[in-house]
Amino acid sequence: MHEFSAACSIVDTAIEAAKNNNATKVSVVHVEVGEFTFLVPEQLVFNFEIARKNSVLEDAELKIKTIKGRLKCDDCGFEGESKVNPDIPAQVAVFAPMKCPQCGGSSTKIAGGKDFVITSIEAEVSKSTAG
Ligand SMILES: [Zn+2]
Repeated sequence: MHEFSAACSIVDTAIEAAKNNNATKVSVVHVEVGEFTFLVPEQLVFNFEIARKNSVLEDAELKIKTIKGRLKCDDCGFEGESKVNPDIPAQVAVFAPMKCPQCGGSSTKIAGGKDFVITSIEAEVSKSTAG
């Protein structure tokens, strides 16, 4: 239930942000999901729709932007986007050491793309007279 805990965390954060901004209804939640989180966007949306029930996010739409993973190579100092070998199925590639796109070495570390973040929230704010 990887996606479910991620969805709950997104919902909790969005509810908190809505509260802090006196929002009465959240319409869109934008998230950036790193490649190395291995979250499936369709699954994330599905679980988001379960997790948001009876909250200000009831009618909110989850917009997901996938961010490329970043690798750092100890052999040549390369740091940048990972290149997925199209010959290796994704399910296998997850467990295989990722080769450096520059020198081909396998002394690589994941340098980014392991997180998911809420980048922005679109919400309706209740009209205030103090404005
Ligand atoms: Zn390298």
